[in-house]
Amino acid sequence: MLYSKIFGKTQKETKKYEAKNQELLTKAGFIDQLASGIYTLLPLGKRVLTKIENIIRQEMEKIGAQEIEMPLLHPKILWEKTQRWDSVDVLFKTKSQYHQEYALAPTHEETVTPLMKKILKSGKDLPIALYHITKKFRDEPRPKSGILRGREFGMKDLYSFHKDKDDLHQYYQKVIDAYLNVFYRCGLKEIKITEASGGSFTKKFSHEFNVLTNAGEVDLIYCNSCSFAQNEEVATKKQNDPCPKCQTPLKKGKAIEVGNIFDLETRFSQAFDLKFIDDDGQEKYVVMGCYGIGTTRLIGAIVEVYHDEKGIIWPEEVSPYQVHLVGLNLNERKIKEKCYNYYQRLNKEGIEVLFDDRENVSSGEKLVDSDLIGIPYRLVISKKTKENVEVKKREENKSKIVSLEEAIKLFKK
Ligand code: ATP
Ligand code: MG
Repeated sequence: MLYSKIFGKTQKETKKYEAKNQELLTKAGFIDQLASGIYTLLPLGKRVLTKIENIIRQEMEKIGAQEIEMPLLHPKILWEKTQRWDSVDVLFKTKSQYHQEYALAPTHEETVTPLMKKILKSGKDLPIALYHITKKFRDEPRPKSGILRGREFGMKDLYSFHKDKDDLHQYYQKVIDAYLNVFYRCGLKEIKITEASGGSFTKKFSHEFNVLTNAGEVDLIYCNSCSFAQNEEVATKKQNDPCPKCQTPLKKGKAIEVGNIFDLETRFSQAFDLKFIDDDGQEKYVVMGCYGIGTTRLIGAIVEVYHDEKGIIWPEEVSPYQVHLVGLNLNERKIKEKCYNYYQRLNKEGIEVLFDDRENVSSGEKLVDSDLIGIPYRLVISKKTKENVEVKKREENKSKIVSLEEAIKLFKK
């Protein structure tokens, strides 16, 4: 991609933002705020989201989940059946001019359960796991923290259907591992899992996946040496207590919740009369689990964890491009030619490259922009680099000069 052509470039403005993720993503040209809690993803931001979504797809496939896409307009009757039309405070409600009322989907139990009731023919088909990756709407009282809390946001939600609790619990464990893989591949290597009572959507037990960062809203009591963590709201331990697993003094810190999984038991299958005939000839309610990942929140969480005073530092698997090729001294015909040839070469090799081909921008400005955008590798071609290219990792200060071919070897998968 030629940077001169990209829609949504870096911004020089010095406006103050509440949240670092909003500031950096806006200034670097990844997002645009339409209104409080409502954002457009510009081409760079959309590329990051697509990468995250594809990581999730791969990890969902591995645990046998099938992708579908459910509607976002939910007839009121479905939400009345679960008694959630009036009880969910963040529910957006809308009226059609033809006298129908709808909820704008904040979650999808109300559609996935009747769907399963229509399509499930026999208990022999269980277990089944379905997921989709779409928008959600929640009338959040105070959307703040940039894209960490939106009124419209991206989510992957998975629903699993089982004959009994044991089977659900086995699958639940597999989802925990799949989630840890997703977050690991997104660069979030240290996830603290907490067990909680379930929030506004269900009373059954649940687990939350938290990323430690001061930008978070969740207060955690956690251990630095092992996996122990508790949400402070329900914690039985406090800061400096010995860890119940390994005796290390416990710490207290803020975190962002990036995923949340719930045991729904038969709450929704009862509401929609979703049953199967078991081997013993008895009719039983299907046991359900649900599992969410905030996809757009994940982008914000990654930025909160991976940035410095110059800008974003994208982990490799979610970076919008693999390399940022920066052409300096492009007013010299030979250098310009070399840059364009190399850009084409990188494309041919299947290396995802953003090429700063702008001619009316100073060298200093280009390097500043490159740091702000945060692609993990920068390649500079200039008068100084002669027949070679200067390679620098975003998070390191030192660079090295290598031949054009050597650089290609570095990035070819
Ligand atoms: P929170 O506790 O942060 O309000 P939640 O527990 O209500 O979220 P779930 O219903 O479990 O959220 O949704 C699954 C995931 O979707 C959450 O773990 C979070 O990553 C994401 N998410 C929830 N609400 C929002 C929001 N308003 N904006 C962005 N992402 C969100
Ligand atoms: Mg939650």
